[in-house]
Amino acid sequence: MASVELKGLGKRYGATVAVDNVSLRIEHGQLVCLLGPSGCGKTTTLRLIAGFMEPSAGEIVVGGKSLSTVKRTVPPEGRNMSMIFQSYALWPHMTVAENVAYGLRIRKMDAATIAAKLKAILSTTRLEALAERYPGELSGGQQQRVSLARALVVEPETLLLDEPLSNLDTNLREEMRFEIRRLHDQYRYTTVYVTHDQAEAMTTADLIAVMNKGRIEQLGTPQDIYDRPRSAFVARFIGGSNILGGKAVDGERIAVGGATLRTTGRPLTVGETVAVSIRQHDIELLTAAPVGGDNVLHATVRRGVFLGAARDYTVMLDDKSELRATVSADLDVTVGQDVWLRLPAAKCRALMEGPEA
Ligand code: ADP
Repeated sequence: MASVELKGLGKRYGATVAVDNVSLRIEHGQLVCLLGPSGCGKTTTLRLIAGFMEPSAGEIVVGGKSLSTVKRTVPPEGRNMSMIFQSYALWPHMTVAENVAYGLRIRKMDAATIAAKLKAILSTTRLEALAERYPGELSGGQQQRVSLARALVVEPETLLLDEPLSNLDTNLREEMRFEIRRLHDQYRYTTVYVTHDQAEAMTTADLIAVMNKGRIEQLGTPQDIYDRPRSAFVARFIGGSNILGGKAVDGERIAVGGATLRTTGRPLTVGETVAVSIRQHDIELLTAAPVGGDNVLHATVRRGVFLGAARDYTVMLDDKSELRATVSADLDVTVGQDVWLRLPAAKCRALMEGPEA
């Protein structure tokens, strides 16, 4: 096993910059998720690590060895890596056991070693009972477990996963997230996991690298990224925060929607334009104007959706900007009604970047 280091990595396709100066160090045994919307450069970064393509700039170093530079790229078969794809990519004419053992056979291991390794991996991936079935006789989740077993059995230095759960239905996807994390805890292969699904990244990752426009916008533990987003992009993408823009009136308050809001996160400079994030479920919705009280904004209800366990309201502030608030299902207000929003100061996070970011 080995650490994986990306140093100023770049990839262009003609005029498109797919990966832009990405630097990231993944320690031995860590699982890092590259998380971001479609087109942000996740897959290209993963394919560069796998050696499927050459970088246009920078370097990839694995276990202290330089594997990719602009001048020289070690091909995939020269890297001790396993990759798992969204499409499973199993051999349809081979049984589960044959699919899983294939990588050991091409490494020319002896029959007894292959049998022992096969038995062990089929057991940990809970596939023993399915060993003689063909992929066409398996569910999507079972097929993905086979591709995990096949990737793990060769004991790779690095494991690469490209949206591995995208083809599964919701329940199975949730179950497989835990399965991937369980297998990671058991084997501790250095792992790079590409996904656009926030919950998937939060469940599986030691560290999340949030990507936007070919760059890493923020790197941190799932809790760091969730609790302390640095930019409006990360705040919106992780956990659906509202972003409010306003001007700082002192070191911690901004003027917004005809009121002032006390914020947290960083000291403000008077007069600067500040973007503040607040999560939908941290907003308290009141049907009468409170007497006094800080951090209260007047708004009108634009839309309400009943979600069973909660209600989701879109409201318009006096400056015409809109916010979404997720509140108790018992709180039933009508479209057009006046409401007051209490935004707890400890939850109004002043971001590092302005609202236009
Ligand atoms: P993601 O995996 O985050 O969806 P990709 O790495 O696939 O993003 O793509 C990043 C950017 O590079 C996108 O703008 C995409 O259109 C572009 N791109 C990806 N592959 C190619 C290619 N083979 N030729 C040209 N542009 C590409």
